[in-house]
Amino acid sequence: KSVFADIKTAPPIEVFHLTKLFMEDKHEKKVNLGIGVVKKCELEIVKDPKLTHEYLPILGNAEFTKAATELILGKDCKAIEENRIVAAQAISGTGAVRLAAEFMSQIMKRRTCYMPQPTWDNHFSIFKAAGFKHLKHCPYWNAKKQKIDISKLLAALSEAPEGAVVVFQAAAHNPTGMDPTKKQWKQIAEVIKQRKLFPFFDVAYQGFASGDPDRDAWAVRYFVKEGIETLIAQSFSKSMGLYNERIGNLVIVLKDPKHAKAVASQITNLIRNSYSNPPAFGSRIVAKLLTNEENKHIWLQHLSEMSDRVKTMRRELAERLTELETPGTWDHIVKQRGMFSMLALQPAEQCEKLIRDKHIYLLRSGRINICGLNTKNLEYVAESISEVIK
Ligand code: PMP
Repeated sequence: KSVFADIKTAPPIEVFHLTKLFMEDKHEKKVNLGIGVVKKCELEIVKDPKLTHEYLPILGNAEFTKAATELILGKDCKAIEENRIVAAQAISGTGAVRLAAEFMSQIMKRRTCYMPQPTWDNHFSIFKAAGFKHLKHCPYWNAKKQKIDISKLLAALSEAPEGAVVVFQAAAHNPTGMDPTKKQWKQIAEVIKQRKLFPFFDVAYQGFASGDPDRDAWAVRYFVKEGIETLIAQSFSKSMGLYNERIGNLVIVLKDPKHAKAVASQITNLIRNSYSNPPAFGSRIVAKLLTNEENKHIWLQHLSEMSDRVKTMRRELAERLTELETPGTWDHIVKQRGMFSMLALQPAEQCEKLIRDKHIYLLRSGRINICGLNTKNLEYVAESISEVIK
């Protein structure tokens, strides 16, 4: 008998399975609302004779980690000025989340983690794989009222044990599209301080919520200004369209610069034990983009245009659903921010009907990717959603 005979097939990963179904679908009207590209910089890198294929340092390309850290914390951040920062290049956002979880579990010895629900599917598996023993869900989204249940979230956090890790998303929350307001973030920060909890920020969509990366960094910068120590995972997959370059950054904000050396050495070990050192190309693209004023200006413009387009699509989808007298309320689509929107659809009947009969691909939770909508397919999508609900 083969030693592999008893291995069970793991369930497919929903978003990638949907993309496969979408690619195989031959229907002319097919729409992919499941998954959501910097040529000039790439060409300059390829032509630059100074850029070789030597190993990067274990903590990555320093020009990249500095620029990425400044992007999230702001150039004028006191923590940066006072050397209270450790940064490490990571294998995209997922790798940064995993590295953070490993550090919190293995080095900080944290065992309990709170995740506002719903959240990115992978958070749970990553924290579990990193060794967290107590993975707790806490309230975030009230599906009925289509808004954040802040009092329930605050209540759950005030009962969390000291030292527990809380997983936050900085902006353009996946999958709800709803971020806490400034007032709500202040309330959250207060509980974090009072209960001595440890916040972790996942930043996968900086610039997607407001169109402006500085505005989308408000919550993280507020926590840091308040003197709260934190870990921050950054992804450039969406914000720069660098999906397959796997480029991310992990930032650790300390209270005291004297701890930086030890923290950096432990992060160095975690990376050395796992993949030794990170790949270079993506880090060079991001660095070129962020450190050159002209490049950065063009990128910021793209981000802003993309975010405007998403807002227009949101408004038009909500308007058409309302005009079609689709049962339910649709103003939440307009209020939600970033790539995603949660539609209150029933997984088995309505979502599957959209995929099977209408060739419209979305998650069974009712999460749709607004970036998949355009002026050509919007009418078809609105009519189809309306039809499966009626
Ligand atoms: N965090 C969140 C909330 C995400 O939605 C994603 C991507 N879907 C990631 C992290 C990681 O993305 P990547 O590894 O492609 O950077």
